[in-house]
Amino acid sequence: MSRAPVRVVVVGLGAWGAHVAWRLARRGADVVGLDRHAPPHGFGSSGGATRMFRTACLEHPDLVEVARRSDELWRGLADRSGRRLRVSDGGMLLGPPDGPVVSGARLAARLHGLPVEVLEAADVRRRYPGHATLPDGHLAVVEPEAALLDVDQVIRGALEQARDAGARLRTGVTVRRAERRAGGVRVEWSGHGPDDGGTIDADVLVLAAGVGNAGLLPDLAPGLVQAAGWRTVVMPMTFLRVDDPAGLGVDDLPVFMRELDDGRVLWGHGVLPGADPTVVKLGVEAATPLPPDGEVRPLAPQDWAPVLERAPVAFPGVRAEGVTGAACPYDRTRDGQFVIGPVDDGRQVWVAGGCNAHGFKHSAGIGEAVAEGIVEGRTSLPVGAFAPDRFAGTGAHAVVGG
Ligand SMILES: Cc1cc2nc3c(=O)[nH]c(=O)nc-3n(C[C@H](O)[C@H](O)[C@H](O)COP(=O)(O)OP(=O)(O)OC[C@H]3O[C@@H](n4cnc5c(N)ncnc54)[C@H](O)[C@@H]3O)c2cc1C
Repeated sequence: MSRAPVRVVVVGLGAWGAHVAWRLARRGADVVGLDRHAPPHGFGSSGGATRMFRTACLEHPDLVEVARRSDELWRGLADRSGRRLRVSDGGMLLGPPDGPVVSGARLAARLHGLPVEVLEAADVRRRYPGHATLPDGHLAVVEPEAALLDVDQVIRGALEQARDAGARLRTGVTVRRAERRAGGVRVEWSGHGPDDGGTIDADVLVLAAGVGNAGLLPDLAPGLVQAAGWRTVVMPMTFLRVDDPAGLGVDDLPVFMRELDDGRVLWGHGVLPGADPTVVKLGVEAATPLPPDGEVRPLAPQDWAPVLERAPVAFPGVRAEGVTGAACPYDRTRDGQFVIGPVDDGRQVWVAGGCNAHGFKHSAGIGEAVAEGIVEGRTSLPVGAFAPDRFAGTGAHAVVGG
């Protein structure tokens, strides 16, 4: 007699939840996906149209394999669906040789034999006019396999694959709380109207709610939020006016992260073909805590200041003038690493969160690792370093596997 498929509720259908739903449904799980908005959207951590993909993972060398698996899954998705997920190829990490950006990228490249090229500043200035002001002594780690991803296409593609594989996905549904019950979980949800709501029972719950995770975790994994130093911050996602577009096309300025001498990191990419040549996406890694009322507010002048001071100096064609921008919320953890895996002995409640502002490129691999862990009991992807149980005393566990 064949066993009934495992029933899984996935909370959140943004970058990570969409891929969890897809990879679970592909493995025959009975998947219900819920989201309070209608992804893709700009209210969570995935706003702003584009994201950098790279396998030179300075944040943790184990992530190289997760990024590679994402790339493999996305190439398959693009072939099947005709969607264009990679909008430009190639990417660069620049800065002082001993700074975290360049040294971390070189470490990941050395450990995994990645096909990167390390360029001296003079060569960078010649080959990439967008970085014409890169100071002597700085280096660039150039990765031809890096890319600029189209956020909407990636999320829409994953949701489409999930639906095609049988997942039932509902939007406009907010999960208010969840509890563990004998042999499973119960999720309480509400919709838009006063009488719109109910409960769903399942075998397993996956929390992939981005900045919504921290509100749902305390009932399910007491102490984890505190132990992990889990907190929501906001980073400005900014677009600046261009005075002189020379050197600011995407071929001259492929997607990049550039550490400056003051330790701040600028990120962005040149103008894509067909896009408005007078606007470029450029930002500074500068996060501030979410206000105590939890409201994500429009950017204030002080939020713009770090990028308006630095971008025109680093990129002379850029004006100190913001065109449009938004505060982009995301979650940080004490050690700067993701939190992926079951949070209980029964492996009924899983979390995929704590993205630390570098998780988009790993979305498909994370979806795969969580789905394998739930359906097969282990994963071949090396996500053990991101297990919730690294935060001692929370009773949480690793996915099991690499
Ligand atoms: C400014 C900035 C730049 C970045 N740049 C890069 C980059 O270049 N490359 C890279 O790899 N990563 C980057 N990142 C990180 C990346 O964007 C995130 O890691 C990724 O988007 C996280 O996706 P998520 O699924 O966790 O969150 P989200 O996409 O926000 O999805 C969470 C979903 O959960 C839903 N939800 C929340 N609460 C509930 C609830 N109670 N009930 C139902 N649904 C709920 C939300 O509506 C949302 O759709 C950047 C992040 C920021 C902030």
